[in-house]
Amino acid sequence: MRFFIFVFLLSLVSSGLSSAVNAVPPATPKNIILFIGDGMGLSQISAAKIVSGQLNVERFKHIGLLTTHSYSDLVTDSAASATAMATGYKTSNKMLSISADGKVLKTVIEYAQENNKATGLVATSSITHATPAAFVAHVNSRKEHSLIAEQITQSGVDVLLGGGWGYFVPSTTADSIRWDNKNLLAQLALTTTVIQTEQELNSLGEVNSLVGLFSVQHLPKAAQRKPSLSRLTKKAIEILAKNSNGFLLMVEGSQIDWGGHENDQDYVISELMDLDKSIGIGLDFAESDQQTLVIVTADHETGGFAIHDGSLQDKQVTASEFTRTKHTATMVPVFAYGPGASDFSGIGDNTRIGKNIIRFLKANE
Ligand code: MG
Ligand code: ZN
Repeated sequence: MRFFIFVFLLSLVSSGLSSAVNAVPPATPKNIILFIGDGMGLSQISAAKIVSGQLNVERFKHIGLLTTHSYSDLVTDSAASATAMATGYKTSNKMLSISADGKVLKTVIEYAQENNKATGLVATSSITHATPAAFVAHVNSRKEHSLIAEQITQSGVDVLLGGGWGYFVPSTTADSIRWDNKNLLAQLALTTTVIQTEQELNSLGEVNSLVGLFSVQHLPKAAQRKPSLSRLTKKAIEILAKNSNGFLLMVEGSQIDWGGHENDQDYVISELMDLDKSIGIGLDFAESDQQTLVIVTADHETGGFAIHDGSLQDKQVTASEFTRTKHTATMVPVFAYGPGASDFSGIGDNTRIGKNIIRFLKANE
C-alpha cells in the first residue's frame, strides 16, 4: 500500500512539473518587439479605427498612459523621447542617448547585445533619424546624420531596415548627403548583406543579418512604399528569431508625425494603419511563440488633433481639427502583450519603457 501511495505521489509531482514546464510562460520575455508610432496620440488612433473598423492594437489587454516631457521642455521632441524609451533616462530635446549633463546613456540595444541577443531597427524614415538613432547613437544633436550613420555602422545591430543610404555613401557619390568621403555601405558590406532595392529583398537567400536601405533619405508615404513596413517587420522578425538567445527589435512608424506636422488627416490615418498592420505581424509571432513581449507606444502626440464629426457606418472622419503644427504634451497610450506586459499598465512616464526593458534584459543574465 505504501508503495502505491509513493507511486501516486510521484506521478502527481511529475505531472505538476511537466505542466509547469509546458504551460507557464516565462516571467521575463526572451524576445522584445517595441513598436513606436511617432506622433501617435489617442485621436490619431481613434481616427484610424473609425476608418478601418478594427485595429490590431485592440488585441492588447494591458494598456497604460505615459507622460512624455523631456528634461528640458514640457513638450518633448522625438530625440529626447526616444532616448527615454531607449535608455530609461530623460534628456534635453535634440539629444540622443546622452544625458543633459553629457554622460553617455546605455541603450536597450546595447544591453541586449551584452546578453547575446540579436538586435534590429526598422523605420520608415532615414535610419539615422532621431527615433531609430537614439537606440544606438550617442550624439549631442539629432541633426548630425553623418556622425549618426558612422555610429550605426559600428553598432553591430544585426538588422537595419529603412531609408537613408545617402548618409552611408561618400560625398563624391551623386546621391550622397554625407559631409565626408567615408563609404559606410562598403564597410557594412564586409560583415553583412547590404541591399538597396525591393528586387534584392525578393531574391534574398538565407541570412543571419541584413542592412536594407531603400531610399536616399526617407521612405515614400505608405501608399507608394515598397517594400512596405509590414514586409520589413516580417523579414526582421524572421531573421532575428534565428538567434536561440532571443532578440530585441524596434519598429517605428515614423511618418504619422509628419502627417501631424502637415495637419494632413489622411496622411496620419494611412501611416497609422500601415504601422497597425505591422503590429499585427508582431502580435501573431508573439501569440504563437509565447515568449515574446510586444509593446506599442508613441513618443508624443503631434498636431493637437481632435475629431469633431464623422460616420462609423461610412467609415469616415468628416470634421477634424489640428490646433497646431507642432508636438503637444498630452499623455500617449502604451499597449503591451506577453511576458512582462502587466508592468506597462496604469499611468507612468515614458522612461518606464526603457527601465522595464532593461530590467527584463538584466533578469535574463
Ligand atoms: Mg521618428
Ligand atoms: Zn515631429
